[in-house]
Amino acid sequence: MRHFVIVIGGGVAGAEAAHQFAQRGIRVAVLEQNALPYGKIEYGLPKWHVKLRNKEEAAIDQKLTHPLVQYVPCTKLGREVRLPELLSWGVSAVVLANGAWRDRPFPVPEAEEYIGRGFYYQNPFMLWFNTMHDPEACPEPYEIADGAVVIGGGLASIDVAKALMMLTVEEALRRRGIQSNVIEMEHGIDRLLHTHGLTLHELGIQGCTLYYRRRAIDMPLTPMPTDTPERLARAQQVRLKVLQTAMARYLFNFQELRRPVGILTEGGRMVGLVLQQTRVEDGQVVPVEGSEYEVRTPLVISSIGSIPEPLPDIPMRGEVYALEDTQLCRIAGYENVFAVGNAVTGRGNIQESLRHSRQVSQRILSDYIGCDAELYERWNRAQEAAVAEEVERIAQQLTRLPQRTAEQMDTIAAHIAALQHRAGYDGDYHGWIRRHLPKRLEELLSLDLSAEESPESAA
Ligand SMILES: Cc1cc2nc3c(=O)[nH]c(=O)nc-3n(C[C@H](O)[C@H](O)[C@H](O)COP(=O)(O)OP(=O)(O)OC[C@H]3O[C@@H](n4cnc5c(N)ncnc54)[C@H](O)[C@@H]3O)c2cc1C
Repeated sequence: MRHFVIVIGGGVAGAEAAHQFAQRGIRVAVLEQNALPYGKIEYGLPKWHVKLRNKEEAAIDQKLTHPLVQYVPCTKLGREVRLPELLSWGVSAVVLANGAWRDRPFPVPEAEEYIGRGFYYQNPFMLWFNTMHDPEACPEPYEIADGAVVIGGGLASIDVAKALMMLTVEEALRRRGIQSNVIEMEHGIDRLLHTHGLTLHELGIQGCTLYYRRRAIDMPLTPMPTDTPERLARAQQVRLKVLQTAMARYLFNFQELRRPVGILTEGGRMVGLVLQQTRVEDGQVVPVEGSEYEVRTPLVISSIGSIPEPLPDIPMRGEVYALEDTQLCRIAGYENVFAVGNAVTGRGNIQESLRHSRQVSQRILSDYIGCDAELYERWNRAQEAAVAEEVERIAQQLTRLPQRTAEQMDTIAAHIAALQHRAGYDGDYHGWIRRHLPKRLEELLSLDLSAEESPESAA
């Protein structure tokens, strides 16, 4: 088929979209804002998931090195190139797979003034956490403190709570002359402390607390269908088990049915929150009036979800891109611009896909077997399945369009080559990746993870 598609973003969704188009004989260029593709796998998945990260990145590498796929690093839609320009080249379609990199704004807007002074957002925090061992790659120092508060509810907020626990315990152990690291602690802080005959209390640590505005059973932790009462009940059991397992292993505290309604400040710092009790009625969060109380804390991290970044030329509806056709995820006002993956705030799509797709592995529908690496794999596979279904629909649209002429294909290819040249990319994908991968913690620590076992298999 003589069609040329441009995919924006080289994460799980973008690589899968590129792969799906290429499998159908369609040429693809993947424009990525960073030097590295990988998206959330590199900068959001916590660095203790070494094996999973390597496996997912290898899968992305394989998809991006298909002969019909061209990779274009360091090229951001809206910065190096704008959407009208791409469309003017005569491309068959543009597919936004740029993920969700903007933290949903904290419900108390004044908190924004205290970023870096007692308050952080999750996305930059996890980026820091993943790179803090490599001063060259690490953006800036972050302050960590015991007794922190995490506002959230999804998988990412559990990661933030885990990361805070790991860093405070690591520091407390170091003060006692005991060396540890976050890769070792992934097997369980409970286990590590037990090995040393210590408790959190003996280390003088109270732990951080995760507050969620709904109930523990409502936490969006794993992609499971919830379309019948039985499936919903099953999903709720699984959610509870995921949370309880994480709390038992990483020793953080949890409080459901609370939402922040105010902040406490002192001497130019945020020093606490005003929380309000809530209840859940017919799926809605209902505030309990008059139930407000203050919680003092040295650090608040907001992890209430990531939303797509506003881009020039792409209309928004509320906090998401405006879609005209929700089946095709077509961007309003354009015939041939679509969105896939986290860029469409995935869950609705993923639920659809779980109901319809034969490609979703049975494991996604079955029980959670106890390890959070598996949760990520499930999200990623569910995401890929949703992308594959959508690309199928887009490809069907393309068959109704006139194929591009050989001349048009050459023109588009020349523009892509110019973008690659501007980025300093010579087409040697593997060489480029090797030069741009940050230092890995496991290499710095000379850890041999080849015989690494999951906490479950070791239990
Ligand atoms: C902590 C954590 C929690 C998760 N929770 C969930 C969840 O609740 N639900 C769920 O469905 N999945 C969840 N996942 C899974 C995960 O988000 C997805 O499966 C997948 O990794 C996202 O893929 P993506 O390609 O859509 O987005 P990303 O991985 O974010 O990739 C987008 C890529 O686009 C690039 N990009 C962004 N803007 C531009 C631009 N303007 N121009 C060019 N390139 C651009 C980015 O640099 C990035 O490489 C979670 C993952 C993690 C790590």
